[in-house]
Amino acid sequence: MTIYIPQYYDWWFDSAIEFLGHLLETVADVRVEWDDGIRFEELNDKKIKALVEEIERLIPYKLKYQKTNNDGQREIKNRAYLPTMHKGKYVNFLGKSNKEKYDILKFLLTFSKKTGTDVCDICSRNYEDDSGISQVSQIIYPISPGSLSSQCGIRKIQANYNCCPQCAVLGCLEWLDDIPFLSNHRNLTHYYLFPRIEQLEQLHRVKHLIRSNLNLKSYSNVFSLTDEYPLDEYSLLLLLFENMIRNIRQVRRLEDILSKDWIVLKIKGTEATYQTSYTYLNEITIPNIESLEHIFSKIKEPYSGFVDKTFSAEIKDGVSKEIKKALTEENKYFMSQGLLLDDFHTFSKAFQIRQNCGIAIPKDSKEIFDRLIDLWRCEQ
Ligand SMILES: [Zn+2]
Repeated sequence: MTIYIPQYYDWWFDSAIEFLGHLLETVADVRVEWDDGIRFEELNDKKIKALVEEIERLIPYKLKYQKTNNDGQREIKNRAYLPTMHKGKYVNFLGKSNKEKYDILKFLLTFSKKTGTDVCDICSRNYEDDSGISQVSQIIYPISPGSLSSQCGIRKIQANYNCCPQCAVLGCLEWLDDIPFLSNHRNLTHYYLFPRIEQLEQLHRVKHLIRSNLNLKSYSNVFSLTDEYPLDEYSLLLLLFENMIRNIRQVRRLEDILSKDWIVLKIKGTEATYQTSYTYLNEITIPNIESLEHIFSKIKEPYSGFVDKTFSAEIKDGVSKEIKKALTEENKYFMSQGLLLDDFHTFSKAFQIRQNCGIAIPKDSKEIFDRLIDLWRCEQ
């Protein structure tokens, strides 16, 4: 029997379906057909077991990290800013035992005619809640579906939404996916980037390329040539592009490998609260991919070679280290945003003198900077 999971046309759940398809292909060795959903032959026990094992492996791998504490000791910490835990324990599907996970997946990934009288608030299918994973919270969908009044600002889901096991499992699994992210501890914000592509097969292709360029470490999985990680969403995206392009031998058209539309999930929160305080959603749309293509055709490392190397230098004495650090970070944000959005006005903000500081460019980056301006502003 063929199992069919139709796509949701939603950035979170479609990404989750893609991730499930990726796990099926790579872990369970299942042939997946990609169209307006994923289709595959129902799984045998051995394949479901392999899938559960991989999920068990990914939970600590993705949701914990190593940190060196003040005494120089290595500590294992939870990514407590993610809504995957409550009072130190994983919740919903992720919190279930091996056996329960197996039973839930067996129900989803083999042919079953069983339905129920409850209606899923997410996908509208009928279901019966046998496994106790139906209560919708941020672990299933990081933001509420949103009425007009909550189109911007803080969105918190109310606990009275309920969903079917498929929605619950997909939503929980997505936290284990390979999503480009960074944690900025200065403003206590964690940024997660999702390509927004409606066509599942294309999404699968782009995410495959992204995956091969990620390198998971404590505070990010995207790194520059000097092993630094970015601190804002635009720098994260620019550096991700840079890494993707560097690793592809021949690039004909960037639009074939890069997505123009991105969703940024921002989670603001402290580690101690064990819950997500605020969750925001932003979109990034790249208006002019040809402009980026033109820059990348001549400059391989606009981020590592130039943006990341700039720093703030005081033009009068007495500027604190903190201010210099904040301005350095802000300058990178302006430059990366300006380049991606083809917006010179934003880019040039980095060059304005603020709080008695100006931007400083090291000698070896100056050449890249000159070339960049020439390519971007003069040649087009
Ligand atoms: Zn559902």
